[in-house]
Amino acid sequence: MPAIEQIPFLDLREVNASYGEELTAAIVRVTERGHYVRGPEGEAFEDDYARFIGCRSAVGVGNGFDALHLIFQAYLSLGRLRPGDEVLVPACTHMATILAVKQSGLRPVPVEPDTDSFLMNPSHAEKQLTSNTKAMVVVHLYGQKAIDQRVLDLARIHKLLLIEDNAQAAGCGKPGERTGSLGDAAAHSFYPTKNLGALGDGGAVTTRDPELAQLVRALGNYGSVERDQFQWPGFNSRLDELQAAVLRVKLKRLDLDNERRQTLAARYLAEIKNPQVVLPTVVRDHVWHLFVIRHEKRDQFREALAVQGIGTMVHYPVPPHRQLALADWSKLSLPITEEIHRTVISLPLNTALTDHQQEKIIRAVNQVQV
Ligand SMILES: *Cc1c(COP(=O)(O)O)cnc(C)c1O
Repeated sequence: MPAIEQIPFLDLREVNASYGEELTAAIVRVTERGHYVRGPEGEAFEDDYARFIGCRSAVGVGNGFDALHLIFQAYLSLGRLRPGDEVLVPACTHMATILAVKQSGLRPVPVEPDTDSFLMNPSHAEKQLTSNTKAMVVVHLYGQKAIDQRVLDLARIHKLLLIEDNAQAAGCGKPGERTGSLGDAAAHSFYPTKNLGALGDGGAVTTRDPELAQLVRALGNYGSVERDQFQWPGFNSRLDELQAAVLRVKLKRLDLDNERRQTLAARYLAEIKNPQVVLPTVVRDHVWHLFVIRHEKRDQFREALAVQGIGTMVHYPVPPHRQLALADWSKLSLPITEEIHRTVISLPLNTALTDHQQEKIIRAVNQVQV
């Protein structure tokens, strides 16, 4: 019997090999220049990325978590937020979103998502408002734009700072209306698996507010603007030169990469016809960081696909309010969030996936009955 062809959920080596010599050349250039932190690559990437997102300022930082954390710390320093203020956050998101609020001394307040799109539901958000609510974090979950006019109106009417967690949606939307340029400030992650992935950790803050950008930059450099002068109690969170050089190469192809993701997603949507499978709901621009389907018997379905050599993942199996780290949320009942976490499964969707591999996945998904 021939061995079953294995299709990994994501092969990062393949993804990065596709950039070829240009990526290697960038690494050699930085190595030979001898300038490794806060240098010309970082500056050039910040300019490129600000232009790409359509925002006045981009500041390179250490990772996506720090990007969020620095935004909150900067608003606290500016007096736009005060310790203990309530911040609306999606109940259904990566733990990092919620931890960043908490670690900044603010109070995260979970908001149940829309049942179908899993995105921020402004009606649910409105019910959680109190006189202490001062900000709202919106996550472009799985790569789909989570902001529409209703979300913008809610923030404006209630004078909430609108902060985008754009970790999963780099490049989402047309130029001029991209995610990351829609709120007051946005956090970006360049973790290797993200749509714009570095060869290690990386992140950025984008904003149209130059004062905020300057403060984020200072706080991520020990609170220092001028050498040996420390104006704020900051910490260290910087995008290094190697990662910036890698990101400059990969940014040039990001729109094309996202188009490929959209083509793959369109094919899944058209050709998956298993009545047990619920396909993702698309309501707005989407760059398909993840292709997430639902199945009543998720674990058995995953196992059956694994037997056929197909790697899948679950984003995410345990909801934030069921994590030990958020013990004060353990009594909460968030049925929409719980149902999503119980049933979701992510199929392979990345720029290294071939048409032939996708065909095999679709055939298997359509065949498996559990
Ligand atoms: C990945 C991710 C983060 C954290 O980014 P890191 O670079 O890993 O710190 C935050 N929010 C969301 C939604 C993410 O997917």
